[in-house]
Amino acid sequence: MHLLRQPEEKIKTFSNVLINARLNVGHCKKCFHLTEGTECEICLNSKRNKSLLCVVADSRDLIALERSREYKGIYHVLGGLISPMDGIGPELLNISALVQRVVNENTLEVILALTPSVEGDTTSLYLAGLLRSFVKVTRIAYGLPVGSELEYADDVTLSRAIEGRQEVQ
Ligand SMILES: [Zn+2]
Repeated sequence: MHLLRQPEEKIKTFSNVLINARLNVGHCKKCFHLTEGTECEICLNSKRNKSLLCVVADSRDLIALERSREYKGIYHVLGGLISPMDGIGPELLNISALVQRVVNENTLEVILALTPSVEGDTTSLYLAGLLRSFVKVTRIAYGLPVGSELEYADDVTLSRAIEGRQEVQ
């Protein structure tokens, strides 16, 4: 309804933007993030720490991590998570490309930033098993959302928060 009320010119511009996005946006040849070129802005940025590689399930997770402005390394987008129930095995994800990058690009640490779910945990374990002999593998800490009450947090979140505890500096 909102769109129908807009001037025709505005709708034309909007639909052109959509069509162009569909035609021109592809995947970065290195990290598989969405990009209009062959390599994405993050991979091309010389200020990013190329020895630190953060693994995410999809580009939405990458964008969320970028919003925090905390992370200065580069990424690898898997294109999903291992899910035997849905018939998604490791061969359907960008995993062999990840192993090649780690081996060829002097990666010092791989940070696994996958959702805390059965699929996320399965994928993390699988990747850690593959990569551990080449590189240091870490996992982001899972804890309590800011502003939440401890007493209302579920058991898994609480036990993860305890597990990921850090020394107070
Ligand atoms: Zn990239």
